[in-house]
Amino acid sequence: MFNATNKVRKKYARITVGTPGYAQVRVPPVLFFPPLSCQPVDKAHGVRTRQMHAMNFDETNFQVEKNEQEVFMKRRMKRNIGREITHLIIHCSATHADRPFTVEQLEAAHRARGFECIGYHYYILRDGTTVNTRAIGRPGAHCKGYNAHSIGICYEGGLDVEGCPADTRTPEQRIALRLLVWQLLGIVGRNVRICGHRDLSPDLDGDGTVEPEEWTKLCPCFDVARDL
Ligand SMILES: [Zn+2]
Repeated sequence: MFNATNKVRKKYARITVGTPGYAQVRVPPVLFFPPLSCQPVDKAHGVRTRQMHAMNFDETNFQVEKNEQEVFMKRRMKRNIGREITHLIIHCSATHADRPFTVEQLEAAHRARGFECIGYHYYILRDGTTVNTRAIGRPGAHCKGYNAHSIGICYEGGLDVEGCPADTRTPEQRIALRLLVWQLLGIVGRNVRICGHRDLSPDLDGDGTVEPEEWTKLCPCFDVARDL
């Protein structure tokens, strides 16, 4: 039987991993994809990879499995993208939701700050168009202290019409963001933390969680762990 979903997904949902050019990936507004757990993967338990399954690792020797898994993931990442990824970091462009902020404007803004090109790896426009703005094999310029081992994803908006921080994502942006994250997990593995820029603010009281009063900025203006 003709499978429209797969055909659509094939046509629209591919992400370019190689060189950045503004290859545009359009995501249709309604698309099924598997549910995504936004919580960081529990490092103590890890994820059993398909390769490990194929090699039939001993379930009882968990520590060996965990170490082997880490080696597998590191090798796989190195082969796929050339560097190790530990974080997928979500940002907003901190621009008014009712005014366009194009890729060209974003590039101009980042060049004005002295970057060679756009600091994020992906930019998601209000209509859901996802633009690969930097090769993911190249460290980004979007989150101090985390650039070497992260992928930066930015959505257009983040401020309401009054200029106040708000979750201004359109339905298309929500879908495109989840789809992009889902596809990136297929490339970098599940053992990464998916979080917002603000969640990486310093944990001043050292209790292990970054509370709202510790945020140094509000970006991406929504709770990634809850609302991605
Ligand atoms: Zn940010």
